Order: sequence, then C-alpha cells, then structure tokens
Amino acid sequence: MRTENLIDGGWRGADSGRMFEVTDPATDQPLASVPSCGTTETRMAIEAAARALPGWRARTAMDRGAILRRLAELMIGAQDRLAALMTAEQGKPLAESKGEIAYAAAFVDWAAEEGKRVYGETVPASHADKRILVLRQPVGVTAAITPWNFPAAMITRKLGPALAAGCTMIVKPAEQTPLTALALAELCVEAGVPPGVVNVITGDAKAIGEELLANPTVRKLSFTGSTEVGRILMRNAAQNLTRLSLELGGHAPFLVFADADLDRAVQGLMAAKFRNMGQTCICANRVFVEAPVHDEFCARLEEAVAGLRIGRGDEAGVQVGPLIDDDAIAKVERHVADAAAKGAVVRAGGARARIEGLADRFYLPTILAGCTAAMAVCREETFGPVVPLIRFDDEADAIARANDSPFGLAAYFYTRDASRLMRVAEALEYGIVGANDGAPSTAQAPFGGVKHSGFGREGGRYVMHEYLDVKYVSWAL
Ligand code: NAP
Repeated sequence: MRTENLIDGGWRGADSGRMFEVTDPATDQPLASVPSCGTTETRMAIEAAARALPGWRARTAMDRGAILRRLAELMIGAQDRLAALMTAEQGKPLAESKGEIAYAAAFVDWAAEEGKRVYGETVPASHADKRILVLRQPVGVTAAITPWNFPAAMITRKLGPALAAGCTMIVKPAEQTPLTALALAELCVEAGVPPGVVNVITGDAKAIGEELLANPTVRKLSFTGSTEVGRILMRNAAQNLTRLSLELGGHAPFLVFADADLDRAVQGLMAAKFRNMGQTCICANRVFVEAPVHDEFCARLEEAVAGLRIGRGDEAGVQVGPLIDDDAIAKVERHVADAAAKGAVVRAGGARARIEGLADRFYLPTILAGCTAAMAVCREETFGPVVPLIRFDDEADAIARANDSPFGLAAYFYTRDASRLMRVAEALEYGIVGANDGAPSTAQAPFGGVKHSGFGREGGRYVMHEYLDVKYVSWAL
C-alpha cells in the first residue's frame, strides 16, 4: 500500500513529519497513516507541475493519449486490488467499488481519445487580407480537490481530461480516502506519466486549498464536494481569478407518474437511492409519487428494500455498508427524527442497524411516507439510505415542487407518455435528468449541475473545455 505523497515524481512525507490515520469505517480499524501536508508541500507540488508543463504541453495528443490509455488499462488490471482498498477506507460494497474502478478508468480512456479531437477553427474575416484563427490551448497548471464518496472516479474525471489537454495537475483527495488516490498516483507513474505532471498531496485541506488559489501559477481548480466549501473556494479564487469548475451538492427529485412502469421505477429508485448507502450527490432525495399509484408504489418499494443486505462492504452479497463517519450517521438520525416529529410515517427502517463486532455506523434502509417540504429531509442533502415519499396530484404541481430547491444537479422521472417525457425533461431545472433511468452517469455524457450545485461539466466532449483556453489569432496577410 502506497502511503507517501507523489511530488515531482518522488514519494515523500510532510516536511513536519506529521501524519494522519486512515481507518475502516466498518470496523474503526486503522489501515495506514499518510502525510499531513500543508502550504510548503503544496508550493513544491505547484512548482513541480509548472516545471513539467512545457514538456507535457509540447507532446502530441497521441503521445499523451497513449500514456492515458496505459493508465486506464493498468487500472482495470488492478481492479480487484483497488476495489478492496476502496472498500476498506470508504465502506461501500465491493461490487460497487469494482464498478467505480471501471467507471473511473472509463474517464481516463475517454479523455485519451478526446484529447485527439481538440480542434481549432478558421472563421471568415471581414477583410480580404485578414484571416481569423481560433486556437485551443491547455490552461496550464491545474488542481483538483475531491470528496470521499467516489475516491477514484472524482479524481480521474478531472485528471484524465486535464492531462489529455496538455495540463499538469495537483490532486488533493479527501482525508477519509487518500489511499485509493495514492494507489492511482502509483499507477500514473507506472503508466509513464513524467515527474511533476501529476502530484498527489494529502493533509490540511484549508492550507492546501488556500495555497492553490493564492498562487498565481495555478490557472484552474476543479472541485467536487459540498456547496459550503465550493463557496469558500470561489471567494478565494477571486484573488487570481483562477478558473473554477464546481461540482457541488444536490437534492434530486424523483417523480413517478401514474402511467409509469412501476417495477422499473422501483428498480431505478433502488439504484438512485441506495448506491453508496445514499452518499452520492445524485441520490434521489425527494420521491414524488402521483396519488393513484402512491400506495402500490410504496408497497413494491417496501418489498425491494426488505431484500437489501446490510453489512461490511467486503462481505459477499452485501448491498448496504456503513456510513462514512459518526457525523454522517448523526445527520441521518436527525433528519429521520425531524420528519417523524412533523408527521412522516416510518414504513421501513428508521433506526441504526447494530451489527455485532462492527462499528456503530450502519443505518437501516428507510422509507418515510407522508413527507412535506417543511421537513429537513426534503430540504437538505441527507446523504444516507432514506427515501422520503411525497404524494402529488398533477404534473404542473409535481414539477413546481421538484424545482423548489436551491440545488440543480440531478432529477429523475418515470412515465410511459412520450409527450410528457419531453415536457418534463425540459421543465426540470437540473443539469442531469434520468428519464426512466435511475443510473445516468457515464464517461461520455456531460455531468454537472446548475444553481447551488455549481457549474462546469465533466465527461463527454464537454469536459475538454474545462482545461482549454481559447485564443483568437487575427492574421493580417
Ligand atoms: P467537502 O467537505 O466539501 O469535502 C470535499 C473536499 O474538499 C475534501 O477533499 C475536503 O478535504 C476538501 N475541503 C474541505 N474544506 C476545505 C477548504 N476549506 N478548502 C479547500 N478544500 C477543502 O465534501 P464531502 O463531505 O467530502 O463530500 C460530500 C459532498 O460532495 C456532498 O455535498 C456531495 O453532494 C458532493 N458531491 C458532489 C458531486 C458532484 O459531482 N456534483 C460528486 C460527489 C460529491 P478534507 O477531506 O481533508 O476535509
């Protein structure tokens, strides 16, 4: 297991010698200690990335693509090992960790190809003796700050396109999940990424984040995490007008119309809600069901939820693991208690699942019926395995309630009416819409939000724009 940080192609600790411990959320067992870096090491990483930039930028897109493809292959080759590490530090079921490694590698593979299609443009000029050229060039030194819920994919969907575009990068992973990030860094080296092109530092988030934005060498920061931290970064980015991509929190509505295929809707909700124990930014957080099918939908959902197996993520057949930490489970408890106090009916779960020999961090998959907008569960991200059900009577009302949120990341709806499908997809104020689909994320599609869910897109051809500047050359003949 790699525990040092990667700076300028070398493995090293913090100057101060300080370390912090990484533990298994399912058992509280210590897994490893990693360096607690700060301003000094961040500066070193930025300088290394700046030194590496001219050489990396000058390579052909084909060259860079070949290295990235090798990285994707290495990730797939190490899928089982990486997945086991991810489950140990993050808690998600092993099958999900394996799925995440494949998903994370797909972003690298996609970027390896997409880098070859960074086309410029010629534009007809207004004068016969002039030519207008539009070039697209790498932004330069970039940085990524990533969360714990997808320890590999949140890194590769930034790193892949940044490197493909010809940028260099400093990555700061979340403190709960640095081991997957450092394992990826090791594979970067093995794939042939030159020293300084990728640097991974762990440690004091505030100090690292402040240096990344105070240092004018860093031209772009891509952040995935909470809206609260996104705001801090945006304020700090004002100093150097550092370009930003912000992939922030969500509060996804999930609408089930009376004409929906209810079994498909239940299946979609199970995928959109219980993946990663409900700790994803695109998790269904408010489930609106049209009155005529409400009770039937609820009954089928209860049956599906009763079949979920809870336990440690590395145990065969487990679908629901532990929550990431004590604050996370306390928040779920607070939301459920608040909903119950305001009249919600607990139809399943509603309590911790105490499992002998394991940490007290497991929460039973929960269904709350009769929820209203007054409840915290309908306003804030719960980030846990809780389904709040809300009954609705007509389409316009459902759309208005679905849009009644400061967040705008993902939304889902189920219907068999083709006209309604287009109408609702257009009306939802969200960056991602799953129409009869509970699992829309994929490397070739643009992922990102509107409103308080941030801006910028990751995936698809859109992601390349995030790491390229547009230069206009006016050429007088
Ligand atoms: P978080 O607290 O915002 O942390 C995310 C990252 O930011 C971590 O690496 C964290 O470092 C770092 N950080 C914390 N304070 C910072 C500061 N003052 N300056 C610079 N960096 C700082 O979020 P989280 O709880 O880990 O992740 C959950 C959130 O991420 C949810 O809101 C979820 O919806 C969102 N998310 C969004 C997407 C998306 O694509 N839109 C995807 C996944 C998750 P430390 O860990 O060291 O504190």
